[in-house]
Amino acid sequence: MRNTLTIRNDKLIQEKRHDVFPTKGGLPDPTQCTVCGAVYAKGRWTWASVDGKARQTTCPACRRIAGNFPAGYIEMGGAFFEARKDEILNLVHNMEKVEKNAHPLERIIEITSNEQKTLITTTGIHIARRIGEAISRAYQGEYAIQYADGEKRIRISWQRD
Ligand SMILES: [Zn+2]
Repeated sequence: MRNTLTIRNDKLIQEKRHDVFPTKGGLPDPTQCTVCGAVYAKGRWTWASVDGKARQTTCPACRRIAGNFPAGYIEMGGAFFEARKDEILNLVHNMEKVEKNAHPLERIIEITSNEQKTLITTTGIHIARRIGEAISRAYQGEYAIQYADGEKRIRISWQRD
């Protein structure tokens, strides 16, 4: 069974409010990110190649990575997690490959660990939710999810002792 909890008063998210990173609108078609090469055309970001000239920009995901302004936070911990950390993080990396391939703006920013927890930050909310759901489905444990900023940010925690 998986328990879904609601967390209120999330200080981390409230303290880390930043500018909005629009993912569409206001860009000429096509526009290419000079950092990662993703291309904006017909209303969406893809890894398509461009024929001829494209306007240049830095995509919202690369801006979030450069400024370390995550849209998603996944916190993992517990004795079970620590014992199987390599396996679980391997699954996380594999999920990122699939997500990023289909959705260029959905990426992991970084994975950091201390003695209590591992924190994964992401450029998009969807990848964070997909990783959280996959881990809780595969390993049960306690799973909590909270949206903030009108669903522009997400905070997930998963724990199993
Ligand atoms: Zn980019």
